[in-house]
Amino acid sequence: MLEVENLGKHFPVTAGILRRQVAAVKAVDGVSFSVRKGETLGVVGESGCGKSTTGRMIMRLLAPSFGKITFEGNDITSMSQGRLRPLRRDLQMIFQDPYSSLNPRKTVGAIVGAPFRLQSIETENGVKKAVQEILEMVGLNPEHYNRYPHEFSGGQRQRIGIARTLALKPKLIVADEPVSALDVSVQAQVVNLLEDLQDELGLTYVVIAHDLSVVRHIADRVAVMYLGKLVEIADRTDLYERPMHPYTNALLSAVPVPDPSKRGERNRIRLQGDVPSPLDPPPACRFHTRCWKAQDICKQVEPPLVELSPGHQAACHFPENTTVSATDEVAKAA
Ligand code: SF4
Ligand code: MG
Repeated sequence: MLEVENLGKHFPVTAGILRRQVAAVKAVDGVSFSVRKGETLGVVGESGCGKSTTGRMIMRLLAPSFGKITFEGNDITSMSQGRLRPLRRDLQMIFQDPYSSLNPRKTVGAIVGAPFRLQSIETENGVKKAVQEILEMVGLNPEHYNRYPHEFSGGQRQRIGIARTLALKPKLIVADEPVSALDVSVQAQVVNLLEDLQDELGLTYVVIAHDLSVVRHIADRVAVMYLGKLVEIADRTDLYERPMHPYTNALLSAVPVPDPSKRGERNRIRLQGDVPSPLDPPPACRFHTRCWKAQDICKQVEPPLVELSPGHQAACHFPENTTVSATDEVAKAA
């Protein structure tokens, strides 16, 4: 359904009255992955890794600096807004903050019904009926039609946001941290809702999250990003049970487990230092400044993303949980 090839976004940093470009923030620096119809791809990484920028480029809310995005066979990378219009409904985004993404002066009926009214595909009565159906679908009361966002809790507001998205009958939804602004107690409810809607409506999701615990239940495959690069991508079970990239391993070791004695050999790995600036990322393997396995080659040769077992790709010279020699795979790829 979606194919992303060598996608990148560099934000220029300018200086002086002539606003000459002096540097670039390499927010996303050449990522490739695909999303199959009906699946959920989780995209995970610390803040500043480029996951939201990637999501926004897929939605074409942000123009890529380079690379290619193909949606259902159409190259949408540089499609004009006019030509993009018919596809706009198919591609929708759910935002992190249900507070700021809803207009406080509009009723739920106006917010969720806006897509219908814009496209004038329904009469006012038809709109009301359609909106009330969607409200029910997302677990809200149809009577909420005339209420305002401030009358709802955070979880309910996120449901309103989801309802608005569904009104367009999208095919692909990019959900950027859909539950991170919510109380832990309601996070699971919203995640379950997204899953139910996927089954019912045949939706395809890209779910962006800053840690691996949120996508653990919802994702079929998981992609891990670090400093603008994709470092690992695999089926969920494979990734959680046999992470190959040291960074993924570190992220996983930080996920709380119900019974710490069952953590097994996976001990808590404390990453040294902060994520380096994307203005001046470390050369070769960008993770080498924080990696406990780093060798000279890691500072000299960038490890390409290679398939180390079926469907499991990682970008590391010394991957974990595999007997495959990454050097051979890297040499083959080169
Ligand atoms: Fe660590 Fe080297 Fe692998 Fe990078 S390539 S993650 S520095 S072992
Ligand atoms: Mg699913």
